Amino acid sequence: MIPATTEFMATRVTRRQFLKRASLVTLAMTLQPWRAVRAAAVRPPSIKFCGAAQFVSGTSHLLDTGRYRVLLDCGLFMEPENEQFNGKFSFDPQQIDLVILSHAHADHVGNLHHLIRQGYRGRIVTTDATRDIFDTVAGNMMDRKGDSRGPSKEDLETIAASFKPVPYNTKIQVVDNLVMRYTDAGHMLGSAFVELWFDETKFVFSGDIGPHDAPILCEPSILQRADYLAIESTYGDVTRKKEDWTRLGTIIRETVERGGSVLIPVFAAEKLQRLIYRIRQLKQAELVPKNIKVISDSSSGNEITEVYRRYADYYDPTAKSLTKPFDFPGFYEMSSRDSLATHGEPGMIYLSTSGMIDHATSPKHLAAMCDDPRNTLIFVGYQSPHTLGGQIYAGDRNVSISWEASDGREEHVRKDIKMRVEKLGGFSGHADGAQLVDWVGNFPKLKQVFVVHGEKTRATDMARQIHDRWGFPAMAPTHFQTINLDRAETVARRGDAPALPQFTEMERYDPQDF
Ligand SMILES: [Zn+2]
Repeated sequence: MIPATTEFMATRVTRRQFLKRASLVTLAMTLQPWRAVRAAAVRPPSIKFCGAAQFVSGTSHLLDTGRYRVLLDCGLFMEPENEQFNGKFSFDPQQIDLVILSHAHADHVGNLHHLIRQGYRGRIVTTDATRDIFDTVAGNMMDRKGDSRGPSKEDLETIAASFKPVPYNTKIQVVDNLVMRYTDAGHMLGSAFVELWFDETKFVFSGDIGPHDAPILCEPSILQRADYLAIESTYGDVTRKKEDWTRLGTIIRETVERGGSVLIPVFAAEKLQRLIYRIRQLKQAELVPKNIKVISDSSSGNEITEVYRRYADYYDPTAKSLTKPFDFPGFYEMSSRDSLATHGEPGMIYLSTSGMIDHATSPKHLAAMCDDPRNTLIFVGYQSPHTLGGQIYAGDRNVSISWEASDGREEHVRKDIKMRVEKLGGFSGHADGAQLVDWVGNFPKLKQVFVVHGEKTRATDMARQIHDRWGFPAMAPTHFQTINLDRAETVARRGDAPALPQFTEMERYDPQDF
């Protein structure tokens, strides 16, 4: 049985913290409603990789501590060959005791409604910012799918009632032998590493890890102790370009000087907010004309920007020093109808979704702008070959553009792309391979590294790099593979730790934040 009282554990106790403790104890105690009866039966601890194993989407890893079954993320499968797994779990959702989310991207949270429909009634632990962004991400899935594959209003209400937000940098003893802590992963607002202690074992799940040079967000935390580590490998074998936001300014300036406007298709979460922030910087530094107008035309993106505005405590020191990092003269958040009405005015920058121009307002803006060679289309993110963005990115200059009209009809138009097309790298929210392998080197010893969330060659290559450089056992598990966690020997790191920005796990701990 789960004991009647739970305990909040913090590594330091100040007077202020002591006063805060009362509320945090309450918070920990409210985690109790998850089913407890199975606590008596002790199984060998194990981890089962139920998604994102030698591919990128559908992250969900089932950690069985021996007493409790903890699901780490519950993501949407997005590759066409993997979509069949959406809503089909390789475990009984009613047997899960707890869900812990790393961040709010759909490939990490987009199957929660199926989990709920199939009987999961426990808590869903999250950061407060992830909870708030989830509302928009899930609402978007509901709108786009329009059928039973997407979440219903009732699903979202059940999920909202199940959320249990917990703060960063605070150990929380959720039950007798299970302690968790979130630390900032620097990937998007609210993103977190998940540290879990049970019995004599510590398991770390990285979720997605942010790059060193991302604006707004803090550097990914450095963790220095674990027995087992599951780490992402999205860009496991890639050296990422540095973000070149001054080049972005040059392209904008040249476009405006020749009388044109700029279209930047962006993802609603993180990429849009990063572009707003960078364009604000460019304007302030007078690297672009002061009189340009910037329009954010994305209902979901504008909702997420509002969440970013609410969580200034999570910004990096530079963003924290600004009064309103997502507002500046000439910046407007508009509905699609109003923003489309502004075409014809020169000197505009349109930030629109989707990032791959395959739905929402990006196709409408493209259709309105592509005829004019004075205009510029700027790609700042990955373009899947199956999307319109992917076709143009690959060099196709005669394309079919489709969008949903306000009355629900599908509109199509065939157009030549006469506007300029520019590609800017370095705006990714993911660390590259070298940074990920460096990050693993902060652990002085490990029993096993599991490399997940990467295509097969990237995941296996990164596992090899981790082993070759640090000497840790590392593997890229396959889909549905289960690994027992009670047999491995601890292996000490070979070689010196990397020269990363060094700060301890708790350096940014400030009781006032909570
Ligand atoms: Zn992500």
